[in-house]
Amino acid sequence: MKAMVMDRITDLSRDEEPLRLAELPYPAAGAGQILIKVSVCGVCHTELDEIEGRTPPPRLPVVPGHQVVGRVIERGPGTDAFTPGDRVGIAWIYSACGKCRFCLEGNENLCPEFQATGRDADGGYAEYMAVPQAFAHRIPDTLSDAEAAPLLCAGAIGYRSLRLAALRDGESLGLTGFGASAHLVLKMARLIYPSSPVFVFARSEREQEFARELGAVWVGDTEDTAPMKLRSIIDTTPVWKPVMEALRSLDNGGRLVVNAIRKEDVDKETLLTLDYPSHLWMEKEIKSVANVTRRDVREFLQLAAEAGIQPEVQDYPLEDANRALVELRLGKIRGAKVLVME
Ligand SMILES: [Zn+2]
Ligand SMILES: [Zn+2]
Repeated sequence: MKAMVMDRITDLSRDEEPLRLAELPYPAAGAGQILIKVSVCGVCHTELDEIEGRTPPPRLPVVPGHQVVGRVIERGPGTDAFTPGDRVGIAWIYSACGKCRFCLEGNENLCPEFQATGRDADGGYAEYMAVPQAFAHRIPDTLSDAEAAPLLCAGAIGYRSLRLAALRDGESLGLTGFGASAHLVLKMARLIYPSSPVFVFARSEREQEFARELGAVWVGDTEDTAPMKLRSIIDTTPVWKPVMEALRSLDNGGRLVVNAIRKEDVDKETLLTLDYPSHLWMEKEIKSVANVTRRDVREFLQLAAEAGIQPEVQDYPLEDANRALVELRLGKIRGAKVLVME
């Protein structure tokens, strides 16, 4: 089968072809697993983190990609949850132990044995992939393959970050960064918290305009000051300066939710400008978001289907994965990028 394979850690500012087109053997559906013919796979910022070594795969080569939509074509021993032809989605959570304290509490995203799709196991930048049936999700009929794919990561993790923001309807929400995840969070927030004003901090004019179209009451640059202090802010940027700016914008007792798997080091020295009275005092909180649980994925897919949440997508053929990654890194083209198999 055809796959785009990651076989090295590299620097994307100098290397525009980090992945290699390869011919790989068909994956086998092991015990408890199903084999999926991939139809669409979303392209995520986390792939940049893997390629540049911020969250390196434990072994190389690996097939990246963790927003996978496809159809079941084969069942491994001991599987009966799906029948061939069923449409399923695979998210970042590829497996967890099911036995530890975190798994038993419903926080399987924190499991020490958490395995990530496309990092710890081969993912969806390929024609086929195998996955434990327990970690495959049915896709509601109202969503097309290309619409569903970005929802599996950006959408599900956005849903989790909005849950962690612990907002009540009417309370103000800020979003700093306005990429694939944030634009879905804005749509969700408008739905779940219809009376909450949403403030968006984004650097590019295109993103700002998009936020306005989606109903943000105020839009500014990352360094601008919102007209009021905010109850919760969700940060989806890859860097640190927006974190410091967001802390300054938080209301007393407010919470900053950092939705990033890793942060880049480029502007890390900004953290040294931390001014305790203005950034943290008055019981401000910072909480990170780590991965997603199956519950986040399933609840969000349902919500997206009921509410008609559909991401704007830009598609690329599998062979153009490198171009999609480079454009993602440069912040080109709004909305979510997906690879479409033939
Ligand atoms: Zn992702
Ligand atoms: Zn566990």
